[in-house]
Amino acid sequence: MNSIQNYINGEFVSSKNDECIDNFNPATNEKIATIPRSSSQDIQNAVDACNLSKSSWSKLSITERAEWLDKIADELEKRFEEISKLESIDTGKPISLSRNVDATRSVNNFRFFADLARNMENKKFEMKDAINNIVNKPVGIAGLITPWNLPLYLLSWKVAPALVMGNCIIAKPSELTPITANLLAEVIHKLGLPKGVFNLIHGYGNECGQALVSHPEINLISFTGGTKTGKIVAKTAAPMFKKISLELGGKNATIILKDADLNSHIDNIVRSSFLNQGQVCLCGSRILVHESIYSSFLELFKQSVSSMKIGDPLDENTQLGSLISNEHLEKVDNYVKLAIEEGGEILYGGQRPNFNNNFAEGAFYEPTIIVGLDYKSRTATEEIFGPVVTIHKFNEIEEAIQIANSTNYGLAASIWTQDATLGGDIAEKLDTGMVWINCWLHRDLRVPFGGVKNSGLGREGGLYSLNFFSELQNICTMND
Ligand code: NDP
Repeated sequence: MNSIQNYINGEFVSSKNDECIDNFNPATNEKIATIPRSSSQDIQNAVDACNLSKSSWSKLSITERAEWLDKIADELEKRFEEISKLESIDTGKPISLSRNVDATRSVNNFRFFADLARNMENKKFEMKDAINNIVNKPVGIAGLITPWNLPLYLLSWKVAPALVMGNCIIAKPSELTPITANLLAEVIHKLGLPKGVFNLIHGYGNECGQALVSHPEINLISFTGGTKTGKIVAKTAAPMFKKISLELGGKNATIILKDADLNSHIDNIVRSSFLNQGQVCLCGSRILVHESIYSSFLELFKQSVSSMKIGDPLDENTQLGSLISNEHLEKVDNYVKLAIEEGGEILYGGQRPNFNNNFAEGAFYEPTIIVGLDYKSRTATEEIFGPVVTIHKFNEIEEAIQIANSTNYGLAASIWTQDATLGGDIAEKLDTGMVWINCWLHRDLRVPFGGVKNSGLGREGGLYSLNFFSELQNICTMND
């Protein structure tokens, strides 16, 4: 069992109140760690540490700070297998996913932002009689708050650009998945990053998370999590005019046109529905299918879903692991019950699998397909964040667009068609921040990432992140 501590001013320390929270493996319900139940006092200590170090850290050149990112990437890479295993144990996700997505991206995020920042050029705008030079200056102290579904992946997506742009950091991971954040602190400690530049505080969101957002000396908040929490974060931060980025929930449409090449794409469509047990903000949880291919799609989709291997997250062949907790499973199951009340039919799944081994108490739930629901029903418009999809028919393309846009969310969508021009036209009519055509979660780290409506505010990714984690200053100099 792992006794995790906060990391403040270059030291691993307990919370001031000495209280702890238990952390569990959701696949077995076994206790695997304890973390500090931090409070505003611990946040204050982290702010003090940042204040001591921010001037020297911000004075380093971008190239010097990028070298730190490369060192962190190298050290994380050495611990690649350990990261993969810990992420699987802490979240319940299949080890193949932890390796291919979580561990891989965590290393890549540091390398990517190191390269990008090194090659970033200051923008200049010439006038007849003067020149404007735009410089990126550090914002100051960055508060980074992350969810449980992609723990180190999402944390590194924020830590790397925040550090390279010269900010000091106070990070707060989800209390459900603290282990790989602690591993990152160990890596940073071993490498000897200047004290106080990176601080990590564990605890409950409504306690130390809220204290982080409320602290007047924390200048920037980058938050990824649910829409409900995002509203609280926005309400707290706005009166202090903090820089804020909100990456929130989604209820994404998967639009399958009548000419879609189903045989080629079915695996990807299944992946887009159930990756990480459907606990990815980008998962397509509303599948809209042209009525002419509806029956053949249902048959193919059901066949493919029913062959998915669910079970031991550490087994190489497992495709579906456990959900994050039994509490979350309860929420997912309640939505399935609601679907039945709303007139839906369970085509596949809809219950916990029967395990007679050490996974019997784990938070496992079958991949679930629901048909026959009104597209405006609660099940079809609210974020479930689990292995549940609803399938709906459409006839005209305008109808598909209208259904796709009929939620309060606007994060992402995917379109499946052999007509790329038509796909592009539809994409532009969707109220989402991102659209994939004949692919899903195909990521280029340079592009803007984020949503519209209740899915968030602002964009991160590539130069969008570097600009968010810095203050742009324009210096206009008159020619001689
Ligand atoms: P939550 O909103 O519950 O929590 C996110 C983070 O915020 C956690 O670290 C949480 O801490 C913390 N938190 C909770 N309350 C507060 C508060 N008052 N002030 C500050 N911080 C607080 O989300 P989940 O962890 O349940 O994650 C799932 C959600 O994240 C889904 O809605 C999903 O769509 C969204 N998400 C969005 C992504 C995107 O890029 N758009 C990507 C990934 C997920 P604690 O857990 O300790 O309570």
